[in-house]
Amino acid sequence: CGIIGVLGSHEVAPTLVEALKRLEYRGYDSAGIATVNAGALDRRRAVGKLVNLSDLLVHQPLAGKAGIGHTRWATHGEPTVTNAHPHQAGRVAVVHNGIIENYRELRAELASHGVPFTTETDTETVALLTEHYMKQGLGPVDAVFKTLDRLEGAFALAFLFDGEDDLIIGARKGSPLAIGYGDGEMYVGSDAIALSPLTDRISYLEEGDRAVVTREGVQIYDARGNLANRAVKQIALDN
Ligand code: GLU
Repeated sequence: CGIIGVLGSHEVAPTLVEALKRLEYRGYDSAGIATVNAGALDRRRAVGKLVNLSDLLVHQPLAGKAGIGHTRWATHGEPTVTNAHPHQAGRVAVVHNGIIENYRELRAELASHGVPFTTETDTETVALLTEHYMKQGLGPVDAVFKTLDRLEGAFALAFLFDGEDDLIIGARKGSPLAIGYGDGEMYVGSDAIALSPLTDRISYLEEGDRAVVTREGVQIYDARGNLANRAVKQIALDN
């Protein structure tokens, strides 16, 4: 129900959890984060309150300067650790707000290619489809864009990749997503509240937008695939 992504200049796990706390007001039943550390993608997830995720991270820390996080309000699949986000398939991790309406069709298609499923969620389909396209030779951006073309329903998505510690891809259709601009850092988040401790400069994605985010900045493409300019708004810093 809430999304955060950080390309940071320092360890991001604490920042991700702090941002998720600010998204608690939206309601959630489980939470998780994923990071890329020395090129390797890893994740931690917990059911219930965010303190459960924080406790888990004390015992099993997650290093890395790039990461994504999620608070989940289950729509497809029980609130279990397995069904909690981020979902991972091979090199791809994804967090998702909303519902992928055509996930059954996509699941059947992937199953026909022998792709195994491990969760009951609509979201896992997004990770598996992206990984499927990457296996066919596409890079992360092309694989995500091709995946997005196939999705029906309402979503805000943020993707993180094994081997890529300077890339988050965000997408918005029916659920809000904002981009935050820092000094040598970049952020994505569900709303200004999540980003306000991190930066006072944000852009809201418009319907159908896709954002390729690196620490240098963001390239935003509109629903037609054209590069788009989205106004940078000044918000109140809150720290
Ligand atoms: N449909 C997804 C799920 O049930 C995302 C729910 C959400 O927006 O948190 O896992």
